[in-house]
Parts: sequence; structure tokens; C-alpha cells
Amino acid sequence: MDNPPQPPIALSARNLQKTYKAGGNQPAKHALKGIDLDIPRGAIFGLLGPNGAGKSTFINILAGLVIKSGGSANIWGFDIDANPRQARASIGIVPQELSIDPFFTPAEIMDLQAGLYGVPRRQRRTMEILSAMGLADKAQAYARTLSGGMRRRLLVAKAMVHNPPVLVLDEPTAGVDIELRRQLWDYVIDLNRQGVTIMLTTHYLEEAEELCDTIAIIDNGAVVACDKTQNLLQQIDNKTLVIRPSTQLAAAPVIAGLQCALRDDGQLAVQYNPGQQAAGEVLAQVQNSGIEIADLASEGADLETVFMKLTGPSSL
Ligand code: ADP
Repeated sequence: MDNPPQPPIALSARNLQKTYKAGGNQPAKHALKGIDLDIPRGAIFGLLGPNGAGKSTFINILAGLVIKSGGSANIWGFDIDANPRQARASIGIVPQELSIDPFFTPAEIMDLQAGLYGVPRRQRRTMEILSAMGLADKAQAYARTLSGGMRRRLLVAKAMVHNPPVLVLDEPTAGVDIELRRQLWDYVIDLNRQGVTIMLTTHYLEEAEELCDTIAIIDNGAVVACDKTQNLLQQIDNKTLVIRPSTQLAAAPVIAGLQCALRDDGQLAVQYNPGQQAAGEVLAQVQNSGIEIADLASEGADLETVFMKLTGPSSL
């Protein structure tokens, strides 16, 4: 049998809106103010934003848990209004909270989930998925005996039970220690290599930098940036050489093509774009302007800087 053609865009949103109605003493909240996003097939896409930005609202609309107020969303070519069943079948969602029934075994949990999604018994790949998540030897153990990391992997396994082409992970490594985080990243990368398109939300900029090829930053219900991770990092002149001159400078020198600033501690901060200029050239230019260098450090801009620049320091 021929496989159906795969859509070039795995997930998209057009002018997606959500207003939560006022309730109790809470005023109405315009949580999504027209989100436009395209997530290409095969991407590991990061959705970043401060608390309250609207990330969960966006995911919950995709999951069918929150009803949008306007706009449209499309999963694997299926409009969530026109083809809700197919749209739902095309996405697996790994929730943030570790909610696992402690009295079932991972194999039973997988089976229940498969039943929920109407996956016929013959087509169930319980052991294959559990093995891929490093849980084969725990298949028959009570879930309550699983460690936090194992539970998280079980949630990923559970979300993959119906073999969806798109997997959404909501803060996959929140509160997970560094070692385990790495391990989870490896599982995510593995799934992606097998062809699964991944979207994840994260608070850890390092995680987005490490894992995601493309990143969207949302703030206050709107997309404020969306670009390849590398481009986003290059968007700002993103390296600074911090030079301690041998003799105190009265003022920052004027050097063509470089932004120089004299800091309060007497150090000279020289900003440059590493994509356009090598650090050696920058140093040579500084020296040619007559400054003798006693010491040197480099400050790199990272996503955190981009993030702060785009969302403002008050929103972190
Ligand atoms: P994030 O996941 O980025 O932290 P959320 O989507 O949870 O953001 O929230 C976006 C905004 O919508 C926040 O101001 C939040 O308080 C509000 N909000 C979220 N859920 C509800 C709800 N059920 N009722 C009313 N307001 C809500």
C-alpha cells in the first residue's frame, strides 16, 4: 500500500486567538492574540516564552482541551475544526505534570492508551516503544516504583502509542537533573531522527539552544520572534570582547566598524559579530588604535540575551 504523501508543514496556526471569559473575580483574558506559526515536517521546534505567555493555551488548543476563540490550526494537514479526529490522531502530547496511575504497569498503561486511541491489538507496538524509551525491563513493574525520569519517559511512550507524526512536549525536563535531562534529549533526538516532528516548550534556554533547529518566542499572547536558532543568535551583535587596557583610558576609542564602550571598572567592551569578523581581527584593530591589552575575556550572547531583548527584563 502506498503511504499518503507527507505534508511539508507538520503544524500550523493562523491568527489563532483565545479569550478566556471572565469568571469569579477574574477579568476576561485575551491569552492568544493572533498566533501565526508554521512548523516544518522534521523540525525540532522550540516554543519559548515567559510564564503566562500563552504556551499552554496554544498546546491545549492543539490537544482539543481548550476551544479557540478565533483563527485556525492545522495538524499534519488536518484542520482541527474540519477534521478533528484526524488532527487528534496526528499528534501526541506529553503533559508537563507527571500524572501516572501508580497501580498499573507501564505495559498496561500503554495498552489502555492504545485502546483509547482505537489502535487495534495487532498494530500495538507496546514493547517496541517501551524499549525505545529505555523501559523494556520495567514493562511489568508497578508505575509507582518508577523513578521521576522513568515516569517522564513513560509519558513520552504513552504519547507515541498511536504512532503520531507530531509530538508535543510541554516542558519535558522541568525539575529534572542535568544527567537525566541529557538522556531525555537523546530520546527526543532519536525520535526526531526516526521522522517525528517535535515541538517543545521550555524554560531552559540551554535546552532550546541545544535541541531546537527553529525557535519561536511568544510573549503576552503574540509571537515576537521566529527564526532558525542560529539566526536568532546572530540577530544581535552577539559577542563582546572585554579588554583590560595596560593604561587607563580616558574615553572609549572610536574604531571603524566596532562598537566600543568604556565600563565603569575601566574595562573596554568591544562588541562584534562573530559571523562577520574573527576575534583576532577585532583585537588587531584595538591594538592598532594604540591600546595595549593587559587582559582579555569574551562574553557571548546567548538565547537568554535575545530573549531578554525581545520580551523585556520584567517579563522573565
Ligand atoms: P504559559 O503556558 O505560557 O505560562 P498560559 O497559556 O498558561 O501561559 O496562560 C496565558 C494567559 O492566560 C495567562 O495570563 C493565564 O493567567 C491565562 N489563563 C490560562 N488559563 C486560563 C483559564 N482557564 N482561565 C482564565 N485565564 C487563563
